[in-house]
Amino acid sequence: MNLSERDAKVIWHPYTQHQLVAPPIPIVRGEAALLFDEQGNSYIDAVSSWWVNLHGHANSYIAEKIYRQALRLEQVIFTNFTHEPAVELAERLLQILPGNPAKIFYSDNGSTAVEVALKMAVQYWQNTGRPERKKILAFENAYHGDTVGAMSVSSRGVFTSAFKELMFDAVFIETPREKNKEKIRSVIKAHEGQIAAFIYEPLLQAAGGMRIYEAAHMNDLLEFIRDQKILCIADEVLTGFGRTGTLFASAEFRYAADIICLSKGLTGGTMALGVTACSPSLFNAFLSIDRSKTFFHGHSFTANPLACTAALASLDLLLEKQCQENIKSIQHQHEAFSKNELSKTGNGLFQHIRISGTVLAFEISSGETGYVNEISATITRLALRQGIYLRPLGNTVYIMPPYCIRPDQLRKVYDFILSIPSGLKLEA
Ligand code: PMP
Repeated sequence: MNLSERDAKVIWHPYTQHQLVAPPIPIVRGEAALLFDEQGNSYIDAVSSWWVNLHGHANSYIAEKIYRQALRLEQVIFTNFTHEPAVELAERLLQILPGNPAKIFYSDNGSTAVEVALKMAVQYWQNTGRPERKKILAFENAYHGDTVGAMSVSSRGVFTSAFKELMFDAVFIETPREKNKEKIRSVIKAHEGQIAAFIYEPLLQAAGGMRIYEAAHMNDLLEFIRDQKILCIADEVLTGFGRTGTLFASAEFRYAADIICLSKGLTGGTMALGVTACSPSLFNAFLSIDRSKTFFHGHSFTANPLACTAALASLDLLLEKQCQENIKSIQHQHEAFSKNELSKTGNGLFQHIRISGTVLAFEISSGETGYVNEISATITRLALRQGIYLRPLGNTVYIMPPYCIRPDQLRKVYDFILSIPSGLKLEA
């Protein structure tokens, strides 16, 4: 039996309809922006393996650091004990995060970073004598994760419909635009004094369709939210660490968040780690001689030393001049491609082209819409044949490459996009 057959016998893959998809491709190794299969075929990882891989695959600098840490200390319970990688990472993150965060709480992934943020915010109001503030405000088209709390503050749709009865109600508003200020404010005012926190993906709503909104409009909304004494949670799980061009997307806003969630690029895509950073007043609200005010949350692998070490190594690479230049260069290449080629194809297939830092996205106009349609699977299949991995969100095609992708590799991805046939549906 080959690996695909063995896989089919024992594995249940995420976001996969096993009755419909082709067997997964066994990947045996990675090198920078490339993945290699058993036959030695290479694939450009144009989505950074679910948006996590910043410095490419099998990065030797990160690998060495993890190896050396593994020989020293691989894991230790994180109550009663601490360790150097966790402390150093917290110190470094607090220096570069926007605003004035005071403490770092560790977990394992983006969803848990969000769960922690929601629970912190709700308990903050209980601990400070305002238990009626317990609703969560979120954006329409938001995506914050797949655990029940994170789903509850995400847009309702095909991802969440089976779990309607499990989720709590959140208050949803449109992302701010030129003309919807009063509409948004009236929704918030209808819940005055009851909202614990507002959670948002800064600048770029990713899984909800790579939707971009403007900092100027958000500043106005954040000002109103602050006047309403609502806590702000910036979900930087995707946008953090340079994705939208700056180190953190929420740094583009005039008002910093009280809580910031990080994961994905945090370890450069090498290890699972989540971070929830919070302001001094958040943390102080949990200090008490009353033990019931404790934040009762933790995971077996909280602050895993290997993951913290990987994050420190990734941060070293990210802050290097070369990496910062690569980020800018990817954006410039996206801009030139979009302006000079993609928008000029004339067949009407590529609509609503947009760029946010290293992310280029557009809609495929095919007659079919929604997340569950054949377009995404067809594009993935066509791209794989050309040695490229793309995974559109329904009709939304996007490129989100590792920062080390070479211009010739990005060119290959662009050329594939230009080659997408306008009669795409017929190819399915
Ligand atoms: N928040 C955002 C903004 C995300 O994009 C994601 C993942 N796509 C998550 C949270 C959840 O992260 P994870 O998949 O690591 O649970």
